[in-house]
Amino acid sequence: MLYPEATLEESRAMKGRLGAIAFAVLRGLKEGGASADELATTEALMTRCFEQLSDHDCDVLVEVVETRLEEASEHGAWDASEKLAGRLTMPEAHIVHDALQQQGIETEIRHEHLSSGDFPNPNTDVELWVRADDLPRAKELLSAIDTQSAETVRCPECDAENPAHFGQCWSCSAVLSREAAAPAAPAADDAEG
Ligand SMILES: [Zn+2]
Repeated sequence: MLYPEATLEESRAMKGRLGAIAFAVLRGLKEGGASADELATTEALMTRCFEQLSDHDCDVLVEVVETRLEEASEHGAWDASEKLAGRLTMPEAHIVHDALQQQGIETEIRHEHLSSGDFPNPNTDVELWVRADDLPRAKELLSAIDTQSAETVRCPECDAENPAHFGQCWSCSAVLSREAAAPAAPAADDAEG
């Protein structure tokens, strides 16, 4: 949220390291329609409270608030996310996810079916989402990732298809040893009859 310059000055006038917290609380109450008396009472209570905090408690409180603010902006970043790719198979999605992660780009795999009772369809419509800011670079990198030629292996436990380099099944976390896992055979559509 952007505050005008005057409001920033006002926030600097609040005393102590916890002034910003007091300011945020008062600002919220004010916008919520609290009266001047209520604001004054709250401010007095907070000032008295904060004065009684030890330096250590003060540090803890500041740390908690900073963490929460970071989490909030993190959440906000994903709100502004864009779909990078859709209609991927699960191995493709994981290959791209890992490749982009190595380049410092976080991706979010959506429409995953990971619950144990839910047998995953490898042709499920899996989507990869990235933060809006990362989209141009992610698209560029994506075009260089060849997901089609990537080797896959089937999980001996749940039969899910996995990228050949995976040590653990993405679906059931079973260990994928190269000896135990047979290469995935192409689907035999004309096998019946
Ligand atoms: Zn598995």
